[in-house]
Amino acid sequence: QPILEMVGISKTFPGVKALRGVELRVYPGEIHALMGENGAGKSTLMKVLAGAYRADPGGEIRIAGDIVHIGDPLAAKRHGIAIIYQELALAPNLTVAENIYLGCELGRTGLIDRKAMAEGARAVLDRLGAGFGPTSIVADLSIAERQLVEIARALHAESKILVMDEPTTALSSRETDALFVLIRRLRAEGLAIVYISHRMAEVYELADRVTVLRDGGYVGSLDRGAIEPDAIVRMMVGRDLSSFYK
Ligand code: ADP
Ligand code: MG
Ligand code: MG
Repeated sequence: QPILEMVGISKTFPGVKALRGVELRVYPGEIHALMGENGAGKSTLMKVLAGAYRADPGGEIRIAGDIVHIGDPLAAKRHGIAIIYQELALAPNLTVAENIYLGCELGRTGLIDRKAMAEGARAVLDRLGAGFGPTSIVADLSIAERQLVEIARALHAESKILVMDEPTTALSSRETDALFVLIRRLRAEGLAIVYISHRMAEVYELADRVTVLRDGGYVGSLDRGAIEPDAIVRMMVGRDLSSFYK
């Protein structure tokens, strides 16, 4: 059973139909690449999932089989969805621990002990093998380290679905390799990872399944055995480009 199922998702902005009946089915323990050329609708689909955008009526989102309404970002979080955007959503002047706990539903007092917070953050940072601690200030961290803070926040929230929107854009090749090791570990732990990219080499290396969008429409999905770069490029652009390579 898919952990996440999106069916018939449409989104209209004034003058632009950004999504037209898109579908996406993601299984636990898989890296699912979401591909498409710039403007295909990848980020919009994920913003619908994140509760940042309200989809047009008629579509359906299911989590572990149950229909859910994701009206705002907190609802997304409650349903186990964590999204890491290209523009990272961290408070730069706060510590790593404060960022990991940011937006948490706190206990009845609404307060959390600083020591408990540092310990909780330390535990999740250790799990990720982070080279910085809970009291570091986020502004002092590299982009790769900030990404790790966002992943730590997702793990701390016990997210089941982790979406990463073009996460390697600003990373060095060493940082990219480290991220891939981590993503594979999270997959082994049973997380479902939606990996947005338009980089074929990355997707070929990493993905268990690929869904392709084009001009806001759903083109199709391929599983591991059928992932073949030429076929995906054809799906992304809507025509055969093999003559360009000759
Ligand atoms: P991708 O992430 O695949 O590059 P996007 O989801 O960002 O594509 O964009 C899909 C389409 O929707 C594009 O035509 C884009 O210009 C349009 N779009 C995205 N966000 C908005 C918005 N907030 N308002 C109006 N149009 C938007
Ligand atoms: Mg884009
Ligand atoms: Mg995008």
